[in-house]
Amino acid sequence: MNTSARVLLAASLLLALSPCSGQTPSISPIRGKSSADITAGFGARVHPVLNIVKRHDGVDFDVPSGTPVRSTAAGKVVLAGPVEGYGLEVVVAHGRGFRTLYAHLSSVAVAPGAIVKKGEVIAYSGRSGLASTEHLHYEVALNGKNVDPALYIPRSADR
Ligand SMILES: [Zn+2]
Repeated sequence: MNTSARVLLAASLLLALSPCSGQTPSISPIRGKSSADITAGFGARVHPVLNIVKRHDGVDFDVPSGTPVRSTAAGKVVLAGPVEGYGLEVVVAHGRGFRTLYAHLSSVAVAPGAIVKKGEVIAYSGRSGLASTEHLHYEVALNGKNVDPALYIPRSADR
């Protein structure tokens, strides 16, 4: 193996191991919103529409309808369309077993199968499905299990 091949191998190994490789959710789905702006957290709560205690599988950001929604990591769109309860939603599959979900959208900007970059606008927020107000519902799943998205959203907002 020559030097440049060795450097290339080292670089690609580093990229594969680095959490900054773009495959791990690491930005807010809404530009200018940080984890401090989450209006409904992950876990059990009284559902605002059904009025029963129900697990909240994600976090909410109160944003007006039509706010651009970004993919929080690079990946492949696996679902973009209406789902009962969640209204119009987009699901993106990333590397390392991560999946992100964006729900109650007013419109989608991608089709299933599309390859998206981190930060790419994939949809616009709304209040479709079982939503009492205009907001974005955002979920992060790791190996099929929902985890607290707040852990994957920076504490200070990007602009
Ligand atoms: Zn929600």
